[in-house]
Amino acid sequence: MQPGQFYFDQDTKMFTKEQIWQGLIYISGTIIFSLTLAFSYTYSSSILLICIPLFVFGFLVHKLLKRTAAISRDRLDQTNRHVEELTHYIDEQKRVGKILEKSEEQFRNAFDYAAVGMALVCTSGEVLKINRALSKLLGSIESEIITNNFSDYILNGDINLFNQNLAIVLSGEAKYRQTEITIVNRDQRQLCMIWNVSLVNDELNNSSHFIFQLQDITDRKEAEEQLSHGALHDSLTNLPNRALFLDRLELAFKRAKRHFKDNFAVLYLDFDRFKLVNDSYGHLVGDKLLVEIGTRLNSCLRSCDTVARLGGDEFSMLVEDISNFDQVIKIVTRIQEEMSTPFIVEGKELTLTLSIGIAEWSKEYTQPEFLLRDADTALYQAKRLGRNRYEIFDVKMHEQAQSLLQIETDLRSAVKNNEFLLNYQPILDLSDKSLSGFEALVRWQHPEKGLVSPMDFIPVAEETGLILEIGEWVLREACGQLTSWRNENKFGEDIWMSVNVSPKQFSQSNFIEMVDDIVIQTGISPECLKLELTETAMIENIDYAQGVMNQLFERGIMLSIDDFGTGYSSLSYIHKLPLSSLKIDRSFVNQMGAGKENLEIIKTIVALAKSLNLKIIAEGIETKGQIDELLKLACEFGQGYYFAKPLSKEDVVKQFSDSTCEFPTETSELKTIAA
Ligand code: C2E
Ligand code: MG
Ligand code: MG
Repeated sequence: MQPGQFYFDQDTKMFTKEQIWQGLIYISGTIIFSLTLAFSYTYSSSILLICIPLFVFGFLVHKLLKRTAAISRDRLDQTNRHVEELTHYIDEQKRVGKILEKSEEQFRNAFDYAAVGMALVCTSGEVLKINRALSKLLGSIESEIITNNFSDYILNGDINLFNQNLAIVLSGEAKYRQTEITIVNRDQRQLCMIWNVSLVNDELNNSSHFIFQLQDITDRKEAEEQLSHGALHDSLTNLPNRALFLDRLELAFKRAKRHFKDNFAVLYLDFDRFKLVNDSYGHLVGDKLLVEIGTRLNSCLRSCDTVARLGGDEFSMLVEDISNFDQVIKIVTRIQEEMSTPFIVEGKELTLTLSIGIAEWSKEYTQPEFLLRDADTALYQAKRLGRNRYEIFDVKMHEQAQSLLQIETDLRSAVKNNEFLLNYQPILDLSDKSLSGFEALVRWQHPEKGLVSPMDFIPVAEETGLILEIGEWVLREACGQLTSWRNENKFGEDIWMSVNVSPKQFSQSNFIEMVDDIVIQTGISPECLKLELTETAMIENIDYAQGVMNQLFERGIMLSIDDFGTGYSSLSYIHKLPLSSLKIDRSFVNQMGAGKENLEIIKTIVALAKSLNLKIIAEGIETKGQIDELLKLACEFGQGYYFAKPLSKEDVVKQFSDSTCEFPTETSELKTIAA
């Protein structure tokens, strides 16, 4: 049955009944009227007196019934309208109910299965409901979390931020707030979240709740952090890199500019001959050693200082908050002590020495990088002065560095323009003072400065690699010169030519090929060529050195160690090498008379040479007394100002072409030296 159908049926029945009753009244009225008329003829008019009121009564009843019927009809219409409205209303309610039911279900699903974590939270902070994603993030099931205060999951440091945002939303100042926040889950893991909070009003219960949405961005954050860490740290040692160091240096610089008291210093550190470790034990050991170094350097610093790896074996340090410079020196000394303990890497014991350059901040500095530059200059000086030491920067060093830079620039064009020439210093047999050979010594004919000593440009050439070209030219020129003197019969047949070979030249992979080419091209007899090598060139890679030297020896080329006694003086390797002579450094010869010690050194070198069947050449002989001493020690050969300074090719021929020479008297000798 349709809603309202009952009322409709009831009203219809009532209306029908009224019609029937009306009909019956009309019919009975007509019958009574007809009967009354008939009787009035028969029984007198007095009957009429009784009947008239009856008719009136009947008429009134009729009127009443008619009115009642009209009212009933109205009521029926009204009821019908009501029924219609009611039906419509009920239909509408049903429809809305269905929609609400559906959207509630949709909302519940959206909440429960949302990819982001969601929570319905009381304004007091109590959790009312959370979805699956959030319970997964928090590592607990919903029932464990419900009724807990959500702030229990917020990292202590973020609690204020959390509460502030809740207050803003609750006060209506903002409809929602979004911020990054860290939560701590059940496993005590910290998760970085984008947290969104908004307020919903529950009008039914006249209350409000927070809706939290939380999106886990921990992985993204970690990746970002890794990226930014990688950009500012050295991947091997995990120490700050140059970029971060410069950044901290800039901050220290700005602080010092503001308050002069905030003094600081920059240290530039470089391990001496670190390359040896890589060459001897491989890069893996070298890398592990660098990691160890980083750890030790860190242990020498205070918390306010920074140590960075600039690259290779170069490190830098920023020493801050220093009240006096002694503090820096103390730190430097501590570093040197710490580094002097051997490192054990892969079972190998490695001993290192360290050179350090120091630059202290002063108000004259205009840019922070200049401190690093000056510390580097001081380091360079420390290296030049013999390594394993520290040097403090002063302005003179800067001037020196600038002039070195100038030399480098000029040297490059000197190589292009061939501005070099050779001098030859005679080497004599000390027993009969006969000419035995020459040492070729390079000079630089500088267009403005005139003749430049090799001491001033060979180290720069060595550092820049220009020595390779210069050295090749020297070897070719010296060999060519000896061949032409030989062809012209200027000196005896057995005269040899000594040529200095720099460590870089010697370790060049095509060194043997280059020597071969020059020997062939100049026509020099290999037996007349003697190469002077330094101890450094050999010690840096003794196996390689031995290999190269053996090949040279097989060709008949003589080999000598120059400046013997000043380098490592590690006598252990000498017997392995195919040497023909040792050259005693002039510092020992010069000081022979000064103390017993030098004499003893020379004696030891001579004894060693004899035991290995090597010839001895003493350089730097300036007096007859020195010759006598050397002769007593059975030293065979000598060179020095006493006999002759390095001479041009023309002067050599002039003074020595007949293989005899007049030796200077003691007085003329002094004049020569003074000159
Ligand atoms: P060195 O090979 O030890 O050469 C000997 C140096 O001692 C020469 O200095 C020579 O002039 C100097 N000398 C010789 N006798 C005396 C003396 O009685 N008293 C004093 N005070 N000095 C004396 P020079 O020519 O200035 O060369 C210096 C250094 O430069 C050489 O030392 C050598 O190491 C290097 N050098 C020179 N020419 C070349 C070259 O062509 N190639 C390479 N790699 N190095 C070279
Ligand atoms: Mg030499
Ligand atoms: Mg020498």
